[in-house]
Amino acid sequence: MFEKVLLKNAEKPDAHGIEAYEAAGGYQALATVLREFSPDGLIQLVKDSNLKGRGGAGFPTGLKWGFVPKDSDKPKYLCCNADESEPGTFKDRVIMEGDPHMMLEGMALASYAIGAEVAYLYIRGEFVLCIERLETALDEAYRKGYLGRDILGSGFNLDIHMHLGAGAYICGEETAMLESIEGRRGEPKLKPPFPAVAGLYECPTVINNVETLACLPHIVNRGVEWFRGIGPEQSPGPKLYCLSGHVQKPGVYELPMGISLRELVDDHAGGARPGRKIKAVIPGGVSAPMIPESGLDVTMDFESLTAIDTMLGSAGVIVLDDGDCIVRAAKNINEFFHEESCGKCTPCREGLDWTGKILHRVEAGEGRQGDLEQLDFLCGSIFGNSFCALGDGAA
Ligand code: SF4
Repeated sequence: MFEKVLLKNAEKPDAHGIEAYEAAGGYQALATVLREFSPDGLIQLVKDSNLKGRGGAGFPTGLKWGFVPKDSDKPKYLCCNADESEPGTFKDRVIMEGDPHMMLEGMALASYAIGAEVAYLYIRGEFVLCIERLETALDEAYRKGYLGRDILGSGFNLDIHMHLGAGAYICGEETAMLESIEGRRGEPKLKPPFPAVAGLYECPTVINNVETLACLPHIVNRGVEWFRGIGPEQSPGPKLYCLSGHVQKPGVYELPMGISLRELVDDHAGGARPGRKIKAVIPGGVSAPMIPESGLDVTMDFESLTAIDTMLGSAGVIVLDDGDCIVRAAKNINEFFHEESCGKCTPCREGLDWTGKILHRVEAGEGRQGDLEQLDFLCGSIFGNSFCALGDGAA
């Protein structure tokens, strides 16, 4: 039986206050790190844990921190990406509502590692309860000396500012998010330079996802061997999976990384509705290509899903059954991406309009000879030629 880590407290009522968090061992990791670890020592610990980013790309967290130039005399920033805008994804919200201090402690640890004294929490404005809970949690953490000046007498300073986004999908893209924090229209910027070198206010910046940050206190408290003992060697650790669509028990499930998709859907989420059969599953938010029912024995980790030309992404698992029309699903997803396209580059802005027109008429039973070839041509023109991952994901 897998012992929950990330949702252990979040699922208890009233666990979001600082007293409940402290009673469960909260902020012990921060105290340990400030007492016993150098910033480089913490980076090495996280590198050794092989923690991969839970926001979508799966980039190794310690390696990302290590890109921040140590000789730069500019301020360093940490940004927590709490935008959670990928359709089918609702796991970070559960952490922020149920156990907000776990994420704040993770932010303090990451900030210490990269030398940041200011961190931003970029959260979508619709997350009203999360925002309320986080405002309270920030007040509590300052009052108890876990944030602010000379934290726990260590000399380390950290201020965390919450920035409310207006609900644009593209602001989950890291450079667009930084533009939004700076008060500009959220549009992706050319990379390189990467944010680790020139990010927020042109200063070295690390962007980490909520779930990634929430893993950090546990890695410090329980050690690298414990973390690496959960799930596959190349992608270890606990993982939150969001189950939605046509399953009997939709919700957020915490299980090891690397569980089989079939086990996740059938054993944990209750499988298909009575009298229905599963037709296909989107494994990682709507940017991830669908897997037909015959492929459900794949394991849910970054490497295994990439090997079959899809991705773990945000682990937003959307189930379609034999009552669902794949063309209609594709049309709906296309509409979403077209609406959310920032319009900066032509392949995405124009291409998604054209693919949408074709999908609309096919779905309406008015498809023409050549429509499939035209769709294939358009997707091939969007994929690889778009400025950011939104275009590629849509194609
Ligand atoms: Fe904007 Fe789409 Fe181009 Fe990304 S791919 S920059 S969202 S138009």
